[in-house]
Amino acid sequence: MRKKIVAGNWKMNNNFQETKKFLSQIKVKEIGSEVEVMIAPAYPFLKFAKDFLVGTKYEIIAQNIHNKLHGAYTGEVSVDMIKSLGLNKSIIGHSERRSQFKETDEILLEKANLCLNKGLGIIFCFGEDLVDRQSKNHFEVVKNQLINTVLKVEKNKWSNIVLAYEPVWAIGTGETASPKQAQEIHEFVRDLISSSLGEDVSKKTSILYGGSVKAGNAKEIFSQDDVDGGLIGGASLVSEDFLTIIESNSSY
Ligand code: PEP
Repeated sequence: MRKKIVAGNWKMNNNFQETKKFLSQIKVKEIGSEVEVMIAPAYPFLKFAKDFLVGTKYEIIAQNIHNKLHGAYTGEVSVDMIKSLGLNKSIIGHSERRSQFKETDEILLEKANLCLNKGLGIIFCFGEDLVDRQSKNHFEVVKNQLINTVLKVEKNKWSNIVLAYEPVWAIGTGETASPKQAQEIHEFVRDLISSSLGEDVSKKTSILYGGSVKAGNAKEIFSQDDVDGGLIGGASLVSEDFLTIIESNSSY
């Protein structure tokens, strides 16, 4: 059974007071039992956020982890550190990590295996950039991104993997993939998982869409057959919008 998920990626936004204010606003709101909701605040506030939301349906997750276990990597955060806070998931492979921090498929596979071997689930992001889309290479690009990374992960680890299709041209740009564009890639990816790992895995893997999902367009995107929810950037910083987006994934 695929899980319905809405995950907010705060990126480098919200200081401590803002984090506390946002979490206070959502904590008092009821959310549908059929949707899993995750929030990825900045590292310094993970422990606070987790403790603050204890007993609620909200799960706090990390935005990233380093690809080595420990050592001389100034400023970095390891999978063990995240696990030691009692967290169970991290986003991996966000396009901003790929482009700004030069994270290659090889590094992302290392990260994925490190997390999964340590019992940390992953939301693994992938997606083509504008040039690939314009040259109609998007299916090939997405396929290669997945073949070079998560599709190399052992089948028995897949229960801890969520995928997030995030076309780079739609991230933070206000331009959203149409529901049809999202559906055709999600369906393509589900077929790819099926042919690589079996239908049993593909049927159970949640695939989220990310890229300018807003309160006003979430419902139509989430209603597509192979879209199981969203990874939300900008709109996850506004509590009312985030709650509306969660609600939009509660009735399908
Ligand atoms: C993201 O960064 O993962 C994202 C989808 O951002 P936005 O919703 O702002 O496009």
